[in-house]
Amino acid sequence: MSLSDKIEKAHIPEQRPLAIFSDFDGTIFLQDTGHVLFDKFGCGPERRAELDESIFTGERTFKGASELLWGSLKDVTLEQGFKQLEKDLTMDPGFTEFLKYVQRHHIPFSVISAGIRPLLRVALDESIGKEKSAEINIVSNDAIIAADGSKWTPLWRHPDSDLGHDKSVSLQEFKDATEEVNPIIIFIGDGVSDLPAAKHSDVLFARRGLKLEQYCQTNKIPYIPYDDFNDIRRELRKYVKGNRHHDLKYGASDDTELVRSAASSMETSPSASPGLKPLTNLKMTKTEKELDKLDGLKLDK
Ligand SMILES: [Mg+2]
Repeated sequence: MSLSDKIEKAHIPEQRPLAIFSDFDGTIFLQDTGHVLFDKFGCGPERRAELDESIFTGERTFKGASELLWGSLKDVTLEQGFKQLEKDLTMDPGFTEFLKYVQRHHIPFSVISAGIRPLLRVALDESIGKEKSAEINIVSNDAIIAADGSKWTPLWRHPDSDLGHDKSVSLQEFKDATEEVNPIIIFIGDGVSDLPAAKHSDVLFARRGLKLEQYCQTNKIPYIPYDDFNDIRRELRKYVKGNRHHDLKYGASDDTELVRSAASSMETSPSASPGLKPLTNLKMTKTEKELDKLDGLKLDK
């Protein structure tokens, strides 16, 4: 082992593969896909605020309120819904570069969301292109949407949970499936629906100034604050550099492949997505210096 390898390894206490799970609404996109639709085609912003409030007061469960919200959508087809999202959604300014970095380093990236899959998938397809989108797993609820737009019915991932989708249950499933390689779980979120997942992550990113950060502060849970995905990418490099599963100076790793396939099999409806491409020879021909430069683009403050 060269001296520089030794120095690098000293900065990486654990040589474990990485797996990233990210919330969608308010995290990858700054708005909430459901809210956009409820406000425009459903119950409207005032009723939505009332229903949101009823979750906080405990009058209704998240699932109960969400059923009323999705049920309020009438006369809007999936296609019309997409069109509105295209107009109203803003992607986090650092997400595209972040995703390039993550995909270049073969880190499985999954969306973990309380939303519904058809909307999340199309928002990704339209904003980053179908090819890149196909490499992202979506772990969420699903929905049946009448072709004429007359009825939207959520299909809950965890019908017995008050949350509809309990992110902590999904992360536990993933941990069980990958137990033998024990990946470092990185979680990125912003809000209330992320709270149950926080305890399952090894590294937690919370958007600055929002509910998840407040919760971490109140409960003394270690977290890294971020303003946008550029901050996360900067931080992520510390876990990638010198890590034999992700640093490109090493070749493909079987452990990474196991983590990728476990994450991929969690997609709500695998048939709807081409899924992850199998790994081929990952070793790149670029020198490490060139790769650092590539990764370092717009990174240095
Ligand atoms: Mg959120």
